Amino acid sequence: MTVSQQIPVATLGVPRIGRRRELKFALESYWSGKSCGAELLTMAKALRAASWEEQHDRGVSKIPSNDFSLYDHVLDTAAMVGAVPSRYAWNGGEVPLDTYFAMARGGQAQTEHCGCARHQHADGHSLTAMEMTKWFDTNYHYIVPELEDNQTFTLSSTKPIDHFLEAKALGIHTRPVILGPVTFLKLAKSRAEGFNTIALLPRLLPVYEELLRTLKLAGADWLQIDEPALVLDLNPNERAAFEFAYGQLSTVAPELKIMLATYFGPLGDNLETAISLPIAGLHLDLVRAPEQLETVGRLAPKDLVLSLGLIDGRNVWRANLTAILDRIKPVVAGWPLARVEIAPSCSMLHVPIDLRMETALDADLRSWLAFAAQKTDELVILARALSQGRGAVADELKASADAAAARATSSKIHDPLVEGRTAGINGAMKQRTSAFAERSRVQARALGLPRFPTTTIGSFPQTAEVRKARAAHGRGQLSYVDYETFLKKETEAAIRWQEEIGLDVLVHGEFERNDMVQYFAEQLSGFAFTEHAWVQSYGSRYVRPPIIFGDVSRPNPMTVRWWEFAQSLTQKPVKGMLTGPVTILNWSFVRDDLSRAEVCRQIALAIRDEVTDLEKSGAKMIQIDEAAFREGLPLRKCGRQFYLDWAVECFRLASTGVQDATQIHTHMCYSEFNEIIGVIAELDADVISIETSRSAMELLDAFTSSKYPNEIGPGVYDIHSPRVPEVAEISALLSLARERLSDAQLWVNPDCGLKTRNWEEVRPSLVNMVTAARALRERMQA
Ligand code: GLN
Ligand code: ZN
Repeated sequence: MTVSQQIPVATLGVPRIGRRRELKFALESYWSGKSCGAELLTMAKALRAASWEEQHDRGVSKIPSNDFSLYDHVLDTAAMVGAVPSRYAWNGGEVPLDTYFAMARGGQAQTEHCGCARHQHADGHSLTAMEMTKWFDTNYHYIVPELEDNQTFTLSSTKPIDHFLEAKALGIHTRPVILGPVTFLKLAKSRAEGFNTIALLPRLLPVYEELLRTLKLAGADWLQIDEPALVLDLNPNERAAFEFAYGQLSTVAPELKIMLATYFGPLGDNLETAISLPIAGLHLDLVRAPEQLETVGRLAPKDLVLSLGLIDGRNVWRANLTAILDRIKPVVAGWPLARVEIAPSCSMLHVPIDLRMETALDADLRSWLAFAAQKTDELVILARALSQGRGAVADELKASADAAAARATSSKIHDPLVEGRTAGINGAMKQRTSAFAERSRVQARALGLPRFPTTTIGSFPQTAEVRKARAAHGRGQLSYVDYETFLKKETEAAIRWQEEIGLDVLVHGEFERNDMVQYFAEQLSGFAFTEHAWVQSYGSRYVRPPIIFGDVSRPNPMTVRWWEFAQSLTQKPVKGMLTGPVTILNWSFVRDDLSRAEVCRQIALAIRDEVTDLEKSGAKMIQIDEAAFREGLPLRKCGRQFYLDWAVECFRLASTGVQDATQIHTHMCYSEFNEIIGVIAELDADVISIETSRSAMELLDAFTSSKYPNEIGPGVYDIHSPRVPEVAEISALLSLARERLSDAQLWVNPDCGLKTRNWEEVRPSLVNMVTAARALRERMQA
């Protein structure tokens, strides 16, 4: 490379939430009526200004604008193109703030959150919110655009232009970011059955064209268009849509250069399409797919700027910069500087803001981490090394290599006992002693349950009182003893009440748990926690995922004490309640120096230890929740079997170390089973509870057609709504379930845990559920 000009540095997008979660607090204050729209907008503007200035000061040359969003960037795009469903009674013009929030949250701002970070429902009386779902394979959730088959589009928000001008007024020239038209349509759902949203492209493009012209007039010279759909399996029609869209867009404002951003995986078989588009630049995710650099470099036109996504935008680890430079050197050595831009693999929306805020973290661990601010510095160092030679940043490169070396050999990470245990995993450890048919006979004798046994999924309401007590304990204002006493009282009351209403299989209620993953992660070795490292899950909901930094083991039993206490209060069986290894993995930041499968095996062995201890203490039923089992599915079909194989293996490792008589339950709170139904059977749990009530049991068809052999509890009431289901409704659902399953298979339970509900809703609902199950038993005997 010739040394002279500087290679540009881009960030693609940065966290929006504010270092101290300012956006969350401003939103919630606005929603609760404590502040007005102008105050919210002022706060948002200040956050944008601070983030632009910080990027500028750190040396970013392609600073994004319009990456900020009050709620979600897909919702912003829907609002921008005027795709506002008719129920929001929008009459054209700029989409008002309250319409925007109604689309996100429903008319009365009722949101419910079950821990699976997916459900959100307005209550029956208010305007329903639009649906929400996971953004590709991240834990960020976007609002799903709803389109009619005769949908029309108009430019209905000037946000990209406004934000560009806002930065310009501060003296900062930005590269606006928008979500591309093809990905937007692909993510949208159509209200008309069987209608393909991609067909709306010719109608949508004029809006994008108008936007591009306006941006050009406002002074933009580059525009980042995100098209992550290019890393998915696409059909020829969808590929053609890319050619059509970019063919059109390239002609409207020829001097406005397009950087087309792809991320979350390799372009794979879409590579030819991507490099043939009339665009000025192409961004590649070289963390998930480093191998595509060579191919793209060879095949792409020489004047196509390649944005190299070299720093991981999805994880929290500090990079070994020298290793990165060494890796790309053979490919980029002969390239002109003007061909290259340096960037993170994807927008940094998915990582926390600034490591410097984590003052309590272990110093070694801290030296191995990088959040958005530190990753930005890494990008600048890489760009300088490439444009000025490594000597220009020798100190920085050395520091990064030293940290990598220290991490690789640290005893904080490597536990020979754990590594020995995973190496010793054998087939017998993934197999119950007997097949289900035999086990179920033994269990039926041991448990003596009635037909259609009733149970719940685990948690009871996390009331304000429970949360207050936990917070007070956390702050040191409530002593350990008093907190324990309080939790025991709650647990005892829950057990007494479950007995009273006649549930067959009881739960302790999970009052002691803050979160179904964190509770376990806090008790396992190899996990670390942060104070301020929030990332957006959806809207104003942020999470602080645990960081798995080292080999995982379980120093002490985690739940046995609570189970023993609960069981000591009753003759009825109380289920042991655990979170499964795959879910713990999928909801954490995972170390990048070991395969995910291997990390998951370590967690599985830790859970296996807990299962063993629960059984030893006398637990006859143990539930292992895998709420996020499906979430880890790779984006492309070709990667899925591999994932499913090791995910199943890990669940089995965790769950099969028990006697035939011990009944293993699992729970999955989502609905799309068709694709993975075979795999669910392979888990070989004795009982699985799933979410089905809202689809009127249709989901069970997957279980019926595959002749699912084990027992199932299809949820008979929708816990995501505050509505109390009538006995008749539950009975009707049970009849539907019986059309699809044999009576011997059927359990009766809600859709999911009850932690987001209050007792006023839970009590009558569960009473009705038990009544419906008993009525059914009586009808059978008559
Ligand atoms: N046992 C957990 C609960 O009831 C399961 C939650 C979930 O799967 N989201 O809360
Ligand atoms: Zn659930």
